[in-house]
Amino acid sequence: MKPPHFTIEKIKFATPAMTFHKAVDLYEAGKVTQVEAGPGLVLAIVQGRSPYRVIVETRQFGLGNCECYLGRHDYLCKHMVALSIFAVKSGQPLTEEEKRYHAIPTCSGRCEELTPSQRADFKNSITAAMRYIRPYHGPSRSWFSYQDSLSEGCNRLTALVSELPVNLFTAELIVNLLIRLDRKLCKGGVDDSDGTVGNFMSGVIGVLFEFITVDESCVAAFKKLLGRDICYEWYVPLVRELEAQTRSARNGL
Ligand SMILES: [Zn+2]
Repeated sequence: MKPPHFTIEKIKFATPAMTFHKAVDLYEAGKVTQVEAGPGLVLAIVQGRSPYRVIVETRQFGLGNCECYLGRHDYLCKHMVALSIFAVKSGQPLTEEEKRYHAIPTCSGRCEELTPSQRADFKNSITAAMRYIRPYHGPSRSWFSYQDSLSEGCNRLTALVSELPVNLFTAELIVNLLIRLDRKLCKGGVDDSDGTVGNFMSGVIGVLFEFITVDESCVAAFKKLLGRDICYEWYVPLVRELEAQTRSARNGL
């Protein structure tokens, strides 16, 4: 079987957490059976509540069909995701890393410096993930795929932020990310009516507060917010925290 044009990473970032976990369970329980390769596609019987005939295309993740209720209504179901995992892994076990899904941004709690090449990698990965958070131009029938793109971008950014160690450099990286997202929402034509990007940003602000409980010198990263042209109010608690810390430093506390 020829490997598909997508990876486990792609599957994970383009699939909601619940669906991904259920698909992993199906895959690990050996419920993907009678797998056959066709031209540009893979077919199988996936044992769900009943046996479903499932087809996925190998040129792009998320294309295919399934006999289950969701599949028949053009939603990406756990059976298609399970077969997509099989197409990549050919029945081999998934690693813990492959299964790890960061549903919300978290603080790694690790205090270590990044090497220059790790710094460059993180910056590049953030820029690549930002491309999924794109302006909305399309007609209404492309709304769902547009929302999927925003979700995938936020899922990618969630994984990146959650893997960052805690230090002033990474705190600044995260503050810059928030400023870029603010600009995209305000002036970049991103339509966040579903609140996907807004929710992600709130989660990231929570991560920054955790950063300063781990290493209070990270608060200096918030100086980047002063005198900036920022549209939304998300920065207010960060600036207040900076002011509070500056006050207590001045009072010698
Ligand atoms: Zn299905």
